[in-house]
Amino acid sequence: MAEGKAPRRLVAGNWKMNGLIASLAEVRALKAALSGRAMAASVAVCPPSTLLAAASNELKGTGILSGGQDCHTEASGAFTGDVSAEMLADAGASLVILGHSERRHGLHESDELVARKVKAARRAGLIPIVCVGETEGERDSGKTLDIVGRQLAHSLPDGLDAKFLIAYEPVWAIGSGRVPSHADIEAVHGFIRSQLMERFGSAGADVAILYGGSVKPANAAEILSLKDVGGALVGGASLKATDFLKIIAAA
Ligand code: PEP
Repeated sequence: MAEGKAPRRLVAGNWKMNGLIASLAEVRALKAALSGRAMAASVAVCPPSTLLAAASNELKGTGILSGGQDCHTEASGAFTGDVSAEMLADAGASLVILGHSERRHGLHESDELVARKVKAARRAGLIPIVCVGETEGERDSGKTLDIVGRQLAHSLPDGLDAKFLIAYEPVWAIGSGRVPSHADIEAVHGFIRSQLMERFGSAGADVAILYGGSVKPANAAEILSLKDVGGALVGGASLKATDFLKIIAAA
């Protein structure tokens, strides 16, 4: 894969552990609807690894990107069940989601491990989408910015270039149908922007900050118009092309 630039605005679908070969019909539907169309945002599909090569093949030449949902820190070796960044790139991916809350909380992934995975992704020429976000308890106790600040500081490795994206995903908003207020989204995205500019200088101004957490066709346009929201990471509503296309159209 030729190494590309990080998208300035992106709507990415995270299929999580969903999708069989028949689900490639959804990829074909996206392709049919979007091919040859000028789009305000780049579009990506992140299917499970079992479908990545086939999805990437379907999307070749369309401008629609594909991505993995995680990667190992090493390029290859005795790591049963894992997938390396190089393997994702070889399967046609240009992006990889890292530090998703389902891995941070479900599999106890630390900021330091996420940082090593980010480094691995860049080594393989992939653009990482680094997820950060607070739990409901952390929000209720007023710790949102502390948590997001800590995750940002430690999940982005030293020496990283500005070829990455951030996804702000409040853990309590993922898959719940609940979404923070627009003011709260803008406050956290503004904070993330200031942290990125402090660390990466003017390059930090160009890093897209996606919002993720119960984005649906009905709320996408409002969320995507908020200040410093540079796109969306979409879970459930990305599984059906008809829904995902409505969110893409709102970008
Ligand atoms: C996600 O898994 O990244 C996500 C945002 O899920 P959902 O859109 O289903 O809340």
